Amino acid sequence: MLQTERLRIAIQKSGRLHENSIELLNRCGIKFHFSKNALLLHAENLPIDILLVRDDDIPTLVMDDICDLGIVGENILLEKKLYKLNNGDNPNFTIVNKLDSSRCRLAIAVPEDREFIDVSSLQGLRIATSYPNLLQQFLDEQQINAEILNISGSVEIAPRLGMADAICDLVSTGRTLEENNLTEVYTLIQSQAVLIQTNKKLKDNKEKIKSLLLQRVLGVLKAKESKYIMFHAPKKSLNDLKSLLPGFETPTIMPLEGIQDRVAVHVVSTEGVFWETVEKLKQAGANSILVLPIEKMMN
Ligand code: ATP
Ligand code: ZN
Repeated sequence: MLQTERLRIAIQKSGRLHENSIELLNRCGIKFHFSKNALLLHAENLPIDILLVRDDDIPTLVMDDICDLGIVGENILLEKKLYKLNNGDNPNFTIVNKLDSSRCRLAIAVPEDREFIDVSSLQGLRIATSYPNLLQQFLDEQQINAEILNISGSVEIAPRLGMADAICDLVSTGRTLEENNLTEVYTLIQSQAVLIQTNKKLKDNKEKIKSLLLQRVLGVLKAKESKYIMFHAPKKSLNDLKSLLPGFETPTIMPLEGIQDRVAVHVVSTEGVFWETVEKLKQAGANSILVLPIEKMMN
C-alpha cells in the first residue's frame, strides 16, 4: 500500500471535468503551478498533491487508496461501482459532496426513423455503450433482453455504421445526438461532478489537512449559490420586505444619516437571487438595491 504524508487528490488531466476541478481547488486556496504535461502537481502552500489522470481511473484510484480524494462524474463512478460489485469486490469510497457542475445524463437514443413506444421497444436490439454495467442493470430491471455492444468512444456513430440499433450514452445539450440523427428516448441516470473520498482511516496529519480542505470545499459551494444584498427601505415596509426574502439570514438594519423614515438593510441569501425578487423589493419600497457575489463563507 502506497503511503505518503501529503494528501493526494485525483482530478481529470484534460476534458470536461478538468477546468471546474482546477477552479474548485484554486478557490479552496491551494496554490500550485499548472503545467500542461505534468501528471503530478505539488501544492506550494499545503501538503497536497494533485494527480492528473483520465476520469475513468479516478474511482479506482480512490477505492484502491492510491488517492485520498477524487473529483469525478457520477456516471463514471456508478459504472465503476457496479463493475466492482458485479465482480464480487467491495466499492470502497464515500461521496463527500455533489459539486453542481459538469451536469449530463446517461440516456438511450435510437435512430430518428426507428419506432419507440416505450422501453419494451428495446427488446432484442443491439445497444452500443461505454456503460455496460449500468445499461445491463437497467435492462434487467425492465426485464428486457437486448445485446450490449461495449465500445469505448464515438458511441453515437455505431447505428450509422450498422453496428447497433440504439445507443446508451452521455447527453448534455443533445446536439451530438441531433447531428447523428438520433432521438433521445429514455434517461437512465442524471449525473454531475462529485467529490469522493477513500473510506480508509488516514494518519492524523493527513486527516487534519483533509478536514481543512473539506471545510473549504463546503465554504466554496455555499458561497457559489449565495449573494449579499444591500438596499434602502422605508422602516414601515420592513416586515413586507422580509416576507419577500425566503432563505435569507437575519438582516442587519442600519440608520441612514439625516433620514428618519428609511434604513439600510444588509442580508445574505443562501439560495441565489433572481431578477423577480429584486423587482418585488423595489415595488415594496426598496431602492439603491445592490446584489453582490460572495467569495468565501464560513459559519
Ligand atoms: P478522459 O480522457 O479523461 O477519459 P473523456 O473523453 O472520457 O476524458 P470527457 O468528455 O472530458 O471525458 O467527459 C468527462 C465527464 O464530463 C463525463 O464523464 C461526464 O461526467 C461529464 N460530461 C458532462 N457533459 C458531458 C457530455 N455532453 N458528454 C460527455 N461527458 C459529459
Ligand atoms: Zn473518460
